[in-house]
Amino acid sequence: MRDVVVVGSGIAAAGVGIVNWSTMLQIAASWVISPIFGAVVAALLLHVLKVRVLYAPDRLRAAATWVPLLIALMASAFAAYYLAYEYLHWCMHVPAKRWIEGTRFFKWIDIHHRVHHLHPMKNLNVVLPVADFLLRSRLAMPAEAATAGVR
Ligand SMILES: [Zn+2]
Repeated sequence: MRDVVVVGSGIAAAGVGIVNWSTMLQIAASWVISPIFGAVVAALLLHVLKVRVLYAPDRLRAAATWVPLLIALMASAFAAYYLAYEYLHWCMHVPAKRWIEGTRFFKWIDIHHRVHHLHPMKNLNVVLPVADFLLRSRLAMPAEAATAGVR
């Protein structure tokens, strides 16, 4: 919603020509894609609960097993993503010849992230650029990033 207010203010101040419609389409797509992805994950979790807990002969006992497992799974996924984001981002900005910096994957996401610092509305993902591919916010490394040594 903030984006709509910003666009509305921009149009009021400088006219329709100031709006980057490609970026606006990407933002609008994120409003649709993100909830759909969240719904799919939620449906999978509900399916597991339904099959393993609600239809179990002893629901209380099944819940005592499955609910903590599912909570641990979600917390682990959040923590793993957050730690990966922080560590990889640190390695990108403070290189120190760590083993991970020599991997092809790191070199690829490092370049991906460098482009982000040159083009702040592009290459928004640091760890797994899936959303950049889906939302078409990915920008391949332009020549300026290759020579700029941006960190
Ligand atoms: Zn950065």
